[in-house]
Amino acid sequence: TDIFGSDRKNSKGLNMNIISEAEPFFAALDKFKSTQWQAGPLVNGQTLTGEHKTVVSPFDTTQTVGQVAFADKAAIEQAVSSAHAAFASWTRTPVEVRASALQKLADLLEENREELIALCTREAGKSIQDGIDEVREAVDFCRYYAVQAKKLMSKPELLPGPTGELNELFLQGRGVFVCISPWNFPLAIFLGQVSAALAAGNTVVAKPAEQTSIIGYRAVQLAHQAGIPTDVLQYLPGTGATVGNALTADERIGGVCFTGSTGTAKLINRTLANREGAIIPLIAETGGQNAMVVDSTSQPEQVVNDVVSSSFTSAGQRCSALRVLFLQEDIADRVIDVLQGAMDELVIGNPSSVKTDVGPVIDATAKANLDAHIDHIKQVGKLIKQMPLPAGTENGHFVSPTAVEIDSIKVLEKEHFGPILHVIRYKASELAHVIDEINSTGFGLTLGIHSRNEGHALEVADKVNVGNVYINRNQIGAVVGVQPFGGQGLSGTGPKAGGPHYLTRFVTEKTRTNNI
Ligand code: NAP
Repeated sequence: TDIFGSDRKNSKGLNMNIISEAEPFFAALDKFKSTQWQAGPLVNGQTLTGEHKTVVSPFDTTQTVGQVAFADKAAIEQAVSSAHAAFASWTRTPVEVRASALQKLADLLEENREELIALCTREAGKSIQDGIDEVREAVDFCRYYAVQAKKLMSKPELLPGPTGELNELFLQGRGVFVCISPWNFPLAIFLGQVSAALAAGNTVVAKPAEQTSIIGYRAVQLAHQAGIPTDVLQYLPGTGATVGNALTADERIGGVCFTGSTGTAKLINRTLANREGAIIPLIAETGGQNAMVVDSTSQPEQVVNDVVSSSFTSAGQRCSALRVLFLQEDIADRVIDVLQGAMDELVIGNPSSVKTDVGPVIDATAKANLDAHIDHIKQVGKLIKQMPLPAGTENGHFVSPTAVEIDSIKVLEKEHFGPILHVIRYKASELAHVIDEINSTGFGLTLGIHSRNEGHALEVADKVNVGNVYINRNQIGAVVGVQPFGGQGLSGTGPKAGGPHYLTRFVTEKTRTNNI
């Protein structure tokens, strides 16, 4: 057992400060610095070819990563019909067998860690540390859901009944689960969805974000190598408008697990409502307008440390990232002063350098939208700091880490998914209004609180409607089995990835009353 007393250990990751760990790691990573990967749909284990798209690095679009073929109509049809046919046997495969394939997959992810981290950096623009964390999280999801599935599904639950009557409750897979994931956690969320659905006895058709199709391809190859049958797990790279829409409109599917923006989740909801066939569940984990509330009892240096990591790590491209910092006015000037100094220290640049704190955003569209928001919000509010972009970033999709003081959360209207922090001052007497403002956004993903007044901190934690609250620390980096993660309202339908109830969203329940 680990320190949390569970029956499973989270993976240990890698400490880059220990030379004997770091040297072989960087040597192994180096082998993938110019690899060109070829990826495409994996239908019944066969890689399909077709029209190819060249994949380039977000930090330097002159560097190619490889090529990917997108799924066409024939591939979609074949993948769904094969996954549909494979369901009857997979759902009756003993849960121990399903779980052991996922345990094996976790081992293979660790064995292939350097290639996967290289891909996270080169295809998704992630920093090395983010890549390390990403592989760890994917490994932890596989192992966690393997254990949870055995706990929940090894035996039916016995229920009371009159003498001679046996009442049992069984949990079973629902059918073909369509798993649709975002580019910001191209391995961890991709495999978190897939491993949960498989562990619970579903077959899967997985569609990655179009920007990160190679990482998903390698993950599915490893899953097949680990013993997940090739008809049970199908892989269809392609756009949301084509592949995603066709899959969610298909009447043969049994459920959808989606992580991405709130707008896309609503689109999928409409598609599901309009299709023929059964009424099926949508698990949606979506965006946020995440706030941190800081009162005057807080320690400014600690606050700024947590603000900077919450806002600018991963170039702000985390659903949990801090967007709106509420500062009690007695402490605001001091925090803003320390924040300006801390932002000066941020190293912006190529994510494959370990020194880099802030890498690129995912693509040209994201950059254009974020730059437009910065221009706009600087007019509406008062600029605190906008970091200049250093030389060497010209060929990439870099956005300046920026902090702006504004009057109200209402001026934001939507989630801005990048390294932009908004700051609002409040008076001690206005705390109830701050809580109302945060709740008025309708989002409810993460909330940070900094306070040494426990009663005050717990009151804010209680009254803000969010899925994950972090007191006196940063508000990113939820750990599997430790901080089950997921929001409410516009932030999602509520399931907690990496939590003990997650798998119950992927199953159907059957009660058997037996008087034989
Ligand atoms: P997105 O644009 O909503 O895309 C997510 C996925 O949905 C992609 O694979 C996308 O395909 C697909 N898609 C798009 N339209 C579709 C349609 N009509 N039918 C079916 N699928 C469709 O989100 P994103 O930009 O990739 O990711 C960033 C968002 O994810 C942010 O809002 C962030 O907050 C959220 N997020 C939430 C969590 C959480 O746990 N709550 C975690 C991570 C990220 P394409 O590749 O064609 O776009």
